[in-house]
Amino acid sequence: MKLKLHTHQLQLAHKWKIAGGQGSKMNEVVVVELIDGDGVAGFGEAAPAATYKETPAMVLEFYKRLDVSGFSFDDIPGSMARLETFAPVPSAARCGINTALVDGAAKRAGKAIYDYYNLGFRENQHVTSFTIGLDTPQIIREKVAAAAHYPVLKLKTGDARDRENLAAVRSVAPTKPVRADANEGWKTKEHAMEMLEWLAADGNIQFVEQPLPRTASREDFIWLRERSPLPLYGDESCHTVKDIPFCAECFHGVNVKLVKTGGLSMAHDTLQAARKAGLKTMIGCMIETSVLITAAAHLAELTDHMDVDGNILITNDPYLGATSKNGMLSFTHAPEPIGLRVALR
Ligand SMILES: [Mg+2]
Repeated sequence: MKLKLHTHQLQLAHKWKIAGGQGSKMNEVVVVELIDGDGVAGFGEAAPAATYKETPAMVLEFYKRLDVSGFSFDDIPGSMARLETFAPVPSAARCGINTALVDGAAKRAGKAIYDYYNLGFRENQHVTSFTIGLDTPQIIREKVAAAAHYPVLKLKTGDARDRENLAAVRSVAPTKPVRADANEGWKTKEHAMEMLEWLAADGNIQFVEQPLPRTASREDFIWLRERSPLPLYGDESCHTVKDIPFCAECFHGVNVKLVKTGGLSMAHDTLQAARKAGLKTMIGCMIETSVLITAAAHLAELTDHMDVDGNILITNDPYLGATSKNGMLSFTHAPEPIGLRVALR
């Protein structure tokens, strides 16, 4: 098997900022292509996140020392075990390889990935939220107006301007369902509780992601969960299946992302384990192309909510895949019939 890399500089429509972040208008990702001896090509994407201290340079350095000659689309677990012998493996780099392996395996089976996993995909069922990043109230008003065709918004919170920012959203979209994401920005359980009560008073907040830092104690998370007037979803606290027992104690749901799980195989297992543990599930994303967003869409049937707008927030997506017109995820116009169902634009 051979490995080909494609780096892409993704241009954001707006400067992207979340709690604790610097904000940026460019994001570099690495799209991975694994090609077997028969010429079958599997695609994946590494979208490293600063939140987890991973960079495009780290991913490229890792891929340079990786030898994929013994990898096979017919043996994903064996290929993943080989990958780990090149440790340390950046999670984003693992995601790129694993997603490419699953794409190739599904293509060899002649199936779309959602059928390869026996999940199927129901059209007109899965709606992605559209994210409003941290910004000035004026820009937030403009973004919310421009997102009028998206039925659900996600508002980044965990900032000194939370109240002004929600008021800006409400001045344009008074009753639209909104999810709030604190991104670890509220530092104490008391402050988080105060913010949750304020958000609940809005009446149209669906749930809140990561109200406390991932380093907060189990006791603090449980204290908050017992009192919260809104459902709480773990995001930075939930990476893989190993985190599900902790999350089942501390949250009502989890936000699973391919970049955190290290690809489709572990995302699939993490979502199944979460449901078994009684947790609500969602899939989120980073700033990504349609390669990784489409990969996430294949797992939609394992979720209660989708938040896969990373490709909508950029202006130069190099790939075509699942679409999200008016927020509705669809494979009707996907450019390929099997595998990941993506192609270069
Ligand atoms: Mg989040």
